Amino acid sequence: MKSIVLFSVLILVASVFLYSSYRSQNSVSISSTEAVNTSQESFSTIEKLENPYYSRTDTNKLTLTDAQWKKVLSPDLYAVSREKDTERPFTGKYWEFSGKGTYYCSACGFKLFRSDAKFASSCGWPSFFEQENLSSVVYEIDKAYGMERTEALCGRCEGHLGHLFDDGPKPTGKRYCMNSICLDFVADH
Ligand SMILES: [Zn+2]
Repeated sequence: MKSIVLFSVLILVASVFLYSSYRSQNSVSISSTEAVNTSQESFSTIEKLENPYYSRTDTNKLTLTDAQWKKVLSPDLYAVSREKDTERPFTGKYWEFSGKGTYYCSACGFKLFRSDAKFASSCGWPSFFEQENLSSVVYEIDKAYGMERTEALCGRCEGHLGHLFDDGPKPTGKRYCMNSICLDFVADH
């Protein structure tokens, strides 16, 4: 009888030990995942696994069908980038952001703007007075909603980014009014 009780106690102790080591292993793996996700360093080097067309180095033009884009972009980004939707003002992640670094197209990875050209605009969207280089952004006339505006598109994937206005600050007088969701910011090292 005594040995049965002793055996049961041993089983109980072993179970508690195994469970607690399982818990601690799990919590370690969760926190290390969070550390990777929040690290700016790793963000600047990882690829977007769900989007094989995304590249920070390939500058060749991308011409994909809507069906191909739909497979690799989130529904929110697809709505703005491919269907020319606009995010609500004062809601995007970059309208009030002032980090030093470079902004890339979040759909294809093309270099679009430097943070030096970003300015504090009251419009509620991230605003720049100059594109990174001549091929970064291309334009189309947009006659939607009874207005004639200049639409700004990514120079590589021709995804919608926002609009270009003539009421920006010196030295260009331009205001690239962008949707945050279309931009990926990478901090300078
Ligand atoms: Zn792009």
